[in-house]
Amino acid sequence: MDELDRAERLIATIPDFPQEGVVFRDISPLLADAAALRVAVDALTGPFAGQFDAVAGIEARGFLLAGAAAIAAGVGLVPIRKAGKLPRVAASVSYSLEYGEAVVEVPEGLPRGMRVLLVDDVLATGGTLRAGREVLGEIGCTVTGTAALMEIAALGGRAVLGGDVHSVFVV
Ligand code: IMP
Repeated sequence: MDELDRAERLIATIPDFPQEGVVFRDISPLLADAAALRVAVDALTGPFAGQFDAVAGIEARGFLLAGAAAIAAGVGLVPIRKAGKLPRVAASVSYSLEYGEAVVEVPEGLPRGMRVLLVDDVLATGGTLRAGREVLGEIGCTVTGTAALMEIAALGGRAVLGGDVHSVFVV
C-alpha cells in the first residue's frame, strides 16, 4: 500500500454525526500522523505548484490544511472565517446550507491581486467552497486553484464548482 492509500484509510467514517442520517468523515487521525499529513498536503497542492502566492482555508478544518500547505509551499495564509469572528471585514458572502444559511468573511488588510489556492477538508454539496471563491474574488484575489482533501461525490459539489476542483480522495 502506498503512503497516500494509507493516509486515506486513516480518515474515519462516523455514522449519524452531527445528526442522524449524516455520515461524517473525520480527518483527525490523518492529521495526527506525520507521514500521512505530509503526503496528503503534497497531494492537495501538487497540481498547483508555482501557481499561487497564498493558501486560503475555510474555518475551521480548512485552516488546518491551509496552514500546513502554506508552510510546505513557502507562501502565506488567508483565513476565510465564519460570520462574526473578524474585527474588520473586507468582504462577506452568504450561502445556503442543507439547513439554513451561513456566511463566510475575509479580513481587511490583505494585499490585492494575490493568486490564491483555496482548500478545505471535505467537498460535500460545494456551497462552502463556492462561497469561498466568491469572497476571495470580492477582495481582488485570483483563485488559481480549488482543492479538497475528500470529495463526497454523491452530493454533487463538483458540478456546483463547475467541475473545476481537485480532490485527493473521492468517496
Ligand atoms: P458543502 O458546503 O456541503 O460542500 O460542505 C462542506 C463543508 O462542510 C466543509 O467546510 C466541511 O468542513 C464541512 N463538511 C461537510 N461534510 C463533512 C464531513 O463529512 N466531514 C467533515 N466536514 C464536513
